[in-house]
Amino acid sequence: MSTLRDTYEAVIGLEVHAQLMTKSKMFCSCPNEFGAKINTNVCPVCTGQPGSLPTVNRNAIELGVRAAIALNCQIRDESIFARKNYFYPDLPKGYQISQYEKPFCEHGKLTVKLKSGEEKQIGITRIHFEEDAGKNVHAAFGTVVNLNRAGVPLIEIVSEPDMRTSHEAGQYLRALHSILRYGDICDGNMEQGNFRCDANISVRKRGETKFGTKVELKNINSFRFVEKAIDHEIDRQIDLVEKGETIKQQTRTWNSGKNITELMREKESAHDYRYFPDPDLSPLRITKSWQDKVRGAMPEMPEQVRQRFQKDYNLSDYDAGVLTASKELALYYQETVKICSNPKASANWVANELLGRLNAEGKEVYDSPVSAMQLGDLIGRIDQGEISGKIAKTVFEEMFATRKNPADIIKAKGLVQISDTGAIETVIDKVIAANPAQYADYKAGKVKLFAFFVGQVMKETRGQANPGIVNDLVKKKLDS
Ligand code: ADP
Ligand code: MG
Ligand code: ZN
Repeated sequence: MSTLRDTYEAVIGLEVHAQLMTKSKMFCSCPNEFGAKINTNVCPVCTGQPGSLPTVNRNAIELGVRAAIALNCQIRDESIFARKNYFYPDLPKGYQISQYEKPFCEHGKLTVKLKSGEEKQIGITRIHFEEDAGKNVHAAFGTVVNLNRAGVPLIEIVSEPDMRTSHEAGQYLRALHSILRYGDICDGNMEQGNFRCDANISVRKRGETKFGTKVELKNINSFRFVEKAIDHEIDRQIDLVEKGETIKQQTRTWNSGKNITELMREKESAHDYRYFPDPDLSPLRITKSWQDKVRGAMPEMPEQVRQRFQKDYNLSDYDAGVLTASKELALYYQETVKICSNPKASANWVANELLGRLNAEGKEVYDSPVSAMQLGDLIGRIDQGEISGKIAKTVFEEMFATRKNPADIIKAKGLVQISDTGAIETVIDKVIAANPAQYADYKAGKVKLFAFFVGQVMKETRGQANPGIVNDLVKKKLDS
């Protein structure tokens, strides 16, 4: 059934700020680290003292170039640092160094996978360098400005208004996040604000070619919230238009407690910032040979890892896709295979058991209670016949709950698989003696009862008998 909402179409463009994984800040040598004691990572440059001069961090530029390459952008050989002027307590200089008219790269693209199975290409308008601002810390006695983050290097990645649904926006963000993580460009930590997103949203009637007025949603710090906030904002705008009101250009924030967007400010425009080239910084030159050097030393990107997994581990396209969805997961899988040398079993355990449990608990791979080493160890024990696959699932549950090693759990619970043929034969004799009618029927030709006897033996041994040996021995006994 079509709804009112279906007669409208949303237009979405995203701006992502990603903190670069450098050792020091963008224009000074202060450490770029999270969680240091307040106002200890500061110097005259990043606190805007008179007479101090910025120097560009070469490593930050290289990480930006990596992002440009990974996102198929055209890199400018000469770009300009500009001052974006505004007042805020966390910005002691009174301006932020950014790039405006001549960003270091433009015209990129990113292909995203949709749940329908289709792929969609999203345009990247530009990427530019910026320095981060400090942080206002609100305490009971008042507000403290922490300048440890002031001057930390960022790239801002601006997309074209190519997305039409919250799902497309979510998938774009996930793909972007994954690429930045694979490239060791940004650590992607959204809780610490190292990867943050502003979403620009407008609506229009389907068939309309002009864009509507956009509203910007600021700093949404999880993929799920982005999708929710966008859906909510689309509905809000449609309601307004239906009531005959006009959409005002605004900046709003997502209140995840109340599930609503709230007005922050009526939007300022670019000229309010009085951008102009920073006289303290010469144009940034990124030569072709420098680009080539960065290109030659690029870390593996998700698509390459996916192909390598298919080739080296003989995985299906689908499994390889699941296991390379994030860099953490790909590393986890690789480590598991290294321990147990069984790529197929590792793929099943990681993609099904581990991911299933992690999802159920809302956990990420990096905080998995079961390490790759422990999972590899568990799989190795199945392959060596120490435990059956079924018992292994019980052991895994216990590992996940207690973080204990498989060996300790198997020992403490007496779960070692019974491979002793003498012991198994004794059980089979007992089962046959206890079920004379079934035995007679089997002998009379009802061979399907074979499974019944196997089942009884497994039951008697509480699932601990080696299934292969049980099969062989039951067959031998019944047919003798
Ligand atoms: P601003 O100067 O307000 O930041 P930009 O033109 O730089 O605006 O665009 C910022 C972001 O908003 C980009 O990601 C762009 O794709 C997106 N955008 C621009 N116009 C619209 C629109 N009408 N609806 C939705 N998104 C838009
Ligand atoms: Mg903008
Ligand atoms: Zn500094």
